Amino acid sequence: MKIHNFSAGPSILPQEVLLKASESVMDFNESGLSLLEISHRSKAFIDVLDEAKETALELLNLKNKGYEVLFLQGGASNQFLMSAYNLLETKATFLNTGSWSDKAIKEAKLFGSVHELASSKDSNFNYIPKNYSIPTDCDYFHCTSNNTIFGTQIKNFKSCPIPLICDMSSDIFSRVLDFTKFDLIYAGAQKNMGPAGATIVIIKEDILGKVTREIPSMMNYKLMIDKGSMFNTPPVFSIYVSLLTMKWLKNMGGIKAIEEINKTKAIVMYSEVDLNPLFKGFASIEDRSSMNATFSLINTDLKVTFESMLKEAGIDGVNGHRSVGGYRASMYNALSLDSVKTLVEVMSELESKA
Ligand SMILES: *Cc1c(COP(=O)(O)O)cnc(C)c1O
Repeated sequence: MKIHNFSAGPSILPQEVLLKASESVMDFNESGLSLLEISHRSKAFIDVLDEAKETALELLNLKNKGYEVLFLQGGASNQFLMSAYNLLETKATFLNTGSWSDKAIKEAKLFGSVHELASSKDSNFNYIPKNYSIPTDCDYFHCTSNNTIFGTQIKNFKSCPIPLICDMSSDIFSRVLDFTKFDLIYAGAQKNMGPAGATIVIIKEDILGKVTREIPSMMNYKLMIDKGSMFNTPPVFSIYVSLLTMKWLKNMGGIKAIEEINKTKAIVMYSEVDLNPLFKGFASIEDRSSMNATFSLINTDLKVTFESMLKEAGIDGVNGHRSVGGYRASMYNALSLDSVKTLVEVMSELESKA
């Protein structure tokens, strides 16, 4: 039976990527060697890394615009720390839109004063605050583009007079944005780009070199740039599978093409949430994420029936995060419209039964 994988992360990857990735484990590009047993300094792997960097810049339309691409380890969580280590001299300002922003704030506080510009914590992060203006007397402004747990997404990024740092872990490569607005973008690979293990960092080089503290090697962006993400052994397999996923995206028409599909999936999903009287959405309508749809059953007596119907239909990974409850359908790039339609059919079948 086909399983419809709505997992929030690690999450669905394109079938053809999984196939190619598994081939590389036995015989990488007909070299007679596994990708897992060659040197990260071999030409074969350096070609992978170079192509991954190029493809990322190409997809984001950031080629020749002063950006560097790094593939690091430690996940987005390490970037909470690393970004502050390298960029926070006195004061930084944050938009708090969920648990991940909250964690980024906590790490940054180790390095300087942190100003929470606006927060939606008062209503369990079910909306994106909009009524704020970014101060000019801070080292940078940090935000989270898509709040994976709560199902909200920033639709419009305000123009930012100071360096703009964005955690795009759960919506990178999903929609067209003017990426030149951002000075530092980071994302754990395992939501919308590849398997766990690699973290992509896209950084405008000219924001570096402004803090006075000493930065340990493994935390130092400048050093990582100078060493081409090879200061130590990079996560080779995760980088390779991320490359395959980026190439899959490029071949289907890039971000513009996937954005259309993602929009359609979101419309199909949220229409059902809104029209079906058994369900209600969690996030405020104008801030709804096209990646993670959060909703719940109004009458929890139907929970057992609904969940056995989901199982029957091959739907997996839709349980909500413990801090929100209910359900969460993650509709990352590799999830097909067909999977969303299958979920929506089950929801409407529940209505006809109830
Ligand atoms: C999953 C997630 C993280 C944490 O990523 P790790 O790679 O596990 O550290 C951070 N931010 C957002 C928005 C996420 O979705």
